[in-house]
Amino acid sequence: MTSTARPFLNRRLAEFGTTIFAEMSALAVRTGAINLGQGFPDTDGPEEIREAAVRALRDGRGNQYPPGPGVPELRAAVAAHQQRRYGLSYDPDTEVLVTAGATEAIAAALLGLLEPGDEVVALEPYYDSYAACIAMAGGRRVPVTLRPHEGAFRLDLDELRDAVTDRTRLLLLNTPHNPTGTVLTREELAAIAELAVERDLLVVTDEVYEHLVFDDAEHVPIATFPGMRERTVTIGSAGKTFSFTGWKVGWVTAAPALVTAVRSAKQYLTYVASGPFQYAVAEALALPETYFTAFRDDMRAKRDLLAAGLTEAGFGVHRPAGTYFITTDIRPLGFGDGFAFCRALPERAGVVAIPNAVFYDHREAGAPFVRFAFCKRTAVLEEAVRRLKALAG
Ligand code: PMP
Ligand code: GLN
Repeated sequence: MTSTARPFLNRRLAEFGTTIFAEMSALAVRTGAINLGQGFPDTDGPEEIREAAVRALRDGRGNQYPPGPGVPELRAAVAAHQQRRYGLSYDPDTEVLVTAGATEAIAAALLGLLEPGDEVVALEPYYDSYAACIAMAGGRRVPVTLRPHEGAFRLDLDELRDAVTDRTRLLLLNTPHNPTGTVLTREELAAIAELAVERDLLVVTDEVYEHLVFDDAEHVPIATFPGMRERTVTIGSAGKTFSFTGWKVGWVTAAPALVTAVRSAKQYLTYVASGPFQYAVAEALALPETYFTAFRDDMRAKRDLLAAGLTEAGFGVHRPAGTYFITTDIRPLGFGDGFAFCRALPERAGVVAIPNAVFYDHREAGAPFVRFAFCKRTAVLEEAVRRLKALAG
């Protein structure tokens, strides 16, 4: 199909227009609405880490091409983080790769690991770059839909098993999950791991929200399960954990042969990126535990504030166990089409949100859901809540 709006865009990418995040952030700027769409904090991360970046820049560290796999300080810090938190041991020299954000890690993993025609099973709704990167790699995406059940979006393990065929090459996971806020449980992960081993699948797991889990939820990397370390590519990012989304520092941890495959693709994408920031993120990963707990507690309070406000405004609220997003159901408000709802929301209530349907192949399954980000200052969330109450009529 040729798009008249994008006459030169190739067939692999024709179905992907401008990202919803760019579209909705532009809408917020145009209308002056509060932007609870694209997930970025409205305050920067720790001052000492900002200073660390300035220091690196001034000292001439990272101003020229850093080493392809990333600066040794950051690779060591990533390995130490995985060891300290999860007991996962990775060799900084052969099992850690620094990338231009998680976005490049996802792209490089798929481009480096997939053969044309390979099937990739992914949890739907999925983060928008997954579908585009699978397409660029010539793969076929096979969605397994998370469905609302008792207030959360849950995975049906039978459906997952049924989705795997002889052509399946890898499972693409995301936990904590954007946009639903679901955190896969230890039992679910154990079952997924068993399936991966039984069917000899690779697993690429996007864990960028690993530090944002609330209440009783717990983040468990799938690489910790039996038989998984050698078949799992784990992806992390400084953007979410340290509130520096513009720095674009991400990383991959995996067995040497997998890192080699990912690096083979990565070296022809950016080659390297974010030199001075890599040094700063190395320091950030070594921050005391109190930083991580305070960050999580702050986000939990913001989640509670926004969840209460959205409930009061009349939304159906799916309380997230992780991430900094709340997925809501607009049907109780009398609406059914999230796209139309989000396009009208700036005018109706002065707020911008994201229609979850963009994260679905089964668009109808996602139609009534709308995502709000709560990684914003308390005063901003309070004002958004005040405005959204107008919807309750
Ligand atoms: N994966 C998920 C699930 C995300 O929500 C995002 C966006 N923050 C990314 C990957 C991209 O991360 P980065 O900004 O590090 O490229
Ligand atoms: N990950 C962010 C979100 O889900 C957006 C990042 C982007 O715009 N690529 O809102």
